[in-house]
Amino acid sequence: MGILEVKGVNKRFGGLQALGDVNLSVAENTVHAIIGPNGAGKSTLLNCLVGKLIPDTGSVMFDGQSVLGRAPYEINQMGISRVFQTPEIFGDLSVMENMMIPCFAKRDGSFELNAIAAIASQRDVVEKAEQMLVDMNMIDKREMHAASMSRGDKRRLEIGMCLSQEPRLLLLDEPTAGMARADTNNTIDLLKQIKDERDITIAIIEHDMHVVFSLADRITVLAQGTPLVEDAPENIRGNPKVREAYLGE
Ligand code: ADP
Ligand code: MG
Repeated sequence: MGILEVKGVNKRFGGLQALGDVNLSVAENTVHAIIGPNGAGKSTLLNCLVGKLIPDTGSVMFDGQSVLGRAPYEINQMGISRVFQTPEIFGDLSVMENMMIPCFAKRDGSFELNAIAAIASQRDVVEKAEQMLVDMNMIDKREMHAASMSRGDKRRLEIGMCLSQEPRLLLLDEPTAGMARADTNNTIDLLKQIKDERDITIAIIEHDMHVVFSLADRITVLAQGTPLVEDAPENIRGNPKVREAYLGE
């Protein structure tokens, strides 16, 4: 049994069947990529895993427990953390202050925005946030205004913010979308480091095949809302069904 088990998931938007009978099993401590043409239903599937959307039918089990019907913050507390397609950071705060937010949330179970004033006095949180910035290789940027960083560094910060919640499953929706090649390569290196050094499972939606083949242990190809193939990367490359799905884009 995988740490994440999706069975028979269907999701309709009016007349459009965005997901049709999706089955997916993600094994613990692997990187599982979900690829497919635009509009295949990748983001919809991810949204069903984190409580942003509720499937019409089917089940989603994380570590033996159903996530369906739970609020996004409850699913987060179960150990699923999610990186959005566009970085979700607080541009007005410094890098260090950004990193302290999930550290507070992890410690206290919630975070109040007016607590920013009290941040400096919270030693344990400061230490944890500093350690995470060291781990993310960005401690030298701790006082930088988050909004002024490169796209790659914003992403690096956001991934670190997710990791500080100590998730068991990290979900990423096109983490390198809109990035220059150098930032993409830095993000690949960061994700490789996380995979090697942490006890974590990663499910990644990605359009960039270079990213997918650099990281994935297992690949599921989604086309028109349904899994077409699931296999090891070396068997995906030349698969005629996969080529056809992409050529039909
Ligand atoms: P992908 O992430 O693979 O590009 P999406 O999951 O975003 O695809 O979208 C799958 C299909 O569902 C697309 O046809 C998209 O237009 C449609 N869709 C996604 N979200 C909604 C929504 N909230 N309402 C209506 N249609 C949607
Ligand atoms: Mg998408």
